[in-house]
Amino acid sequence: MRKQIAAANWKMNNTLEEGKKLLNEIIHSDLQVNDNQSVVFAVPFPYLINSNQQLGNKPNMYIAAQNCHNKTAGAYTGEVSVDMLSSINIQYCVIGHSERREYFSESNQLLAEKVDRCLSKSITPIFCCGEPLAIREDEIQNDYVAAQLNDSLFHLDGEAIQKVVIAYEPIWAIGTGKTASAEQAQQMHSHIRSVLANKFGDEVAGNISILYGGSVKGANASEIFSQPDVDGGLVGGASLIATEFVQIIKALK
Ligand code: PEP
Repeated sequence: MRKQIAAANWKMNNTLEEGKKLLNEIIHSDLQVNDNQSVVFAVPFPYLINSNQQLGNKPNMYIAAQNCHNKTAGAYTGEVSVDMLSSINIQYCVIGHSERREYFSESNQLLAEKVDRCLSKSITPIFCCGEPLAIREDEIQNDYVAAQLNDSLFHLDGEAIQKVVIAYEPIWAIGTGKTASAEQAQQMHSHIRSVLANKFGDEVAGNISILYGGSVKGANASEIFSQPDVDGGLVGGASLIATEFVQIIKALK
């Protein structure tokens, strides 16, 4: 059975003290996260160890990195490898966020390598995909997203792909306050699942969590998450406000 996941993406926000306070407020609120659900906090690199310690052994809650390098080690000043993440017990890593694709020119091919690196260390990649506004306006978003999946994930076998979490994040909805409607989200998630089913079979496709990202808030999470192929969300802005993110976690199926 696939997991329902609420993943926070703090991006480049919060000082250490602010981050500690935020995490503290969330993990000490009246939350019940059951075994079919996961809550993930993608925090900045300098806070990974601290945040992991802060979580302690809270059930079904995890700390994630927001990125990793595609090489295992070497002369890549300023970069972070999956070996480093694994050595500090990090279990999730966001891969291919649209901001990294845009500002750091990350290609589908490079992201395929990052996915491989993560899986080699049993780190779950949260693989982001999604179309820019011009592609949606041309009504070719289904092919665009299928190509992203094909180029970055379809070299995996049926066992490995089930260890990947996919986050569909239409770029026009990220940080814009403009959310995809629940119908638009369901339409794309069902398309993604059918693309996965064509390649890996129905059973495998049914085991893969597909998150929606793009201006999810406490007020709209329930409607979006209630869609049959939406398995939770990757949340930016609203994950920086404890009460909002708690509401989003509570909206998980
Ligand atoms: C994100 O950064 O992945 C995201 C979805 O941001 P926001 O929720 O702010 O749109």
